[in-house]
Amino acid sequence: MKTLTKQMIKDFVISQGLDLCGVANIARFKDAPPSMNPASIFPKAKSVIVVGKRILRGNWRGIEEGTYWPSYTYFGYHGQLNTTFIHTPMFETACFIEDFGFEAAPLYPGVTASDRELLREPLRKGGAAPDVNISIRIAGVAAGLGEIGWAKVFLTKQFGPRVRLACIITDLELAPDPLIEPNSICDKCMQCVKGCSACAIPHRKEQKTVKIRIDDKTYEWGDVHMGRCTLSYHGGDAMNSPFIHRDFPGWNFDVTQQDMSEEAAYKFAWTLSQQPWGKCKEFPSGWIIEGHHYLLKWGEAGSFGVEGSRGCMRSCFNHLEKKGTIGQTFHNGDFIKRRRWLLPAKVPGPKQHQANSPV
Ligand code: SF4
Repeated sequence: MKTLTKQMIKDFVISQGLDLCGVANIARFKDAPPSMNPASIFPKAKSVIVVGKRILRGNWRGIEEGTYWPSYTYFGYHGQLNTTFIHTPMFETACFIEDFGFEAAPLYPGVTASDRELLREPLRKGGAAPDVNISIRIAGVAAGLGEIGWAKVFLTKQFGPRVRLACIITDLELAPDPLIEPNSICDKCMQCVKGCSACAIPHRKEQKTVKIRIDDKTYEWGDVHMGRCTLSYHGGDAMNSPFIHRDFPGWNFDVTQQDMSEEAAYKFAWTLSQQPWGKCKEFPSGWIIEGHHYLLKWGEAGSFGVEGSRGCMRSCFNHLEKKGTIGQTFHNGDFIKRRRWLLPAKVPGPKQHQANSPV
């Protein structure tokens, strides 16, 4: 049998156009619940290889300026980055591993187990119910690529939060990479809390946290309100969507006061954004929110981002770049260059409707 080393895999990953590669051994997942454990998918697994690709800083420029939305969805989120830019080279890496006689199971980095999955029965006695889906961010920590910052976003020393991950589970035994020291990237500055207009990220004073332990290290982050996060990100928040202002005169919905679950928030925001509506004089486009529909269409995406991670990503990397924590630097200085825009949560009704000015 031909020898395959960790360095050979890492060199191959980089040669395929990915930016990051780290390795966890399966023992680092011993405390993971069966519904999120790679060993539930591949019981003979010995290693989890996590790969990453940067999100371009420039993908957010148009949203930060309030002028252009499609790039982030298309190049930085589900359009191409999550579905092609990471997955093609990851698939080639899995083929490379199998060429050496080791089984390689590539994983789609979707959303982790929800109630829908947990309602199902296991197909084998004592096994996990389908679909098992591991937390790709926790896998990234276990592979030594970074840590989960206060805003629950994965942070690396190279790019801060500007990264997306995917992984391969394999029965090839590899030495795990060293874990990153907790809090070596996130300094608990709370800029993410300030930047999140949905108030989805708790302040550290609230002491709402999630903790995990991997080997001898404990990682802790804020217990993000995923309902508010989802509402805002996926287009249920007029503060971050000029498209709602155009198509919903009279809208008065304050995301910061909502207490929906993540699933309920998806139902609400996706329905408004995806669905057609009969053309009429008042709304001739044929869509409930035309701008969100075109974002999804132009992005050719299975998902779309309207709010553009204002606090958890943009405020965060702006801060980490300023502080010199991130390896990649830019000639043009700070990302946030001027007073940030936010629209009113309340849209004037049809009678008083006029162009909204940013507050
Ligand atoms: S902005 Fe980034 S570095 Fe600061 S607390 Fe939030 S996640 Fe941590």
